[in-house]
Amino acid sequence: MSDKDDASVKRMAQLLRQGATMLADACPQCGSPLLKVKDDIYCAKCDRRIVYAQSDEEVEAQAVKTLIPELRETLINKLKALNEVVDRETDTEALTKLANLMVLLLQALHKLEGIDK
Ligand SMILES: [Zn+2]
Repeated sequence: MSDKDDASVKRMAQLLRQGATMLADACPQCGSPLLKVKDDIYCAKCDRRIVYAQSDEEVEAQAVKTLIPELRETLINKLKALNEVVDRETDTEALTKLANLMVLLLQALHKLEGIDK
């Protein structure tokens, strides 16, 4: 066993004593078992934190989340504009259409609130 291996084993043992847990996953760099130290994933042999690449799904969910405030603002602006149009409109048929549109916008806004959790 080389000095480097010896040092990594000692470090691993120390971390385990401090409450780290050993994971089933191996380090992508060296193949050593990975340790979970609090919220971090750590490789004792490489002596570094391992950051897992995000899956496509996570990246997508993240992109949608960052878009939500913009979408919400757009919808609110549309509702404000619509409110002014409804205020001036006197034709019943036109008002019905406008009211339907308003309901759709409000539903979309409500759905956004549901996603943003
Ligand atoms: Zn490693």
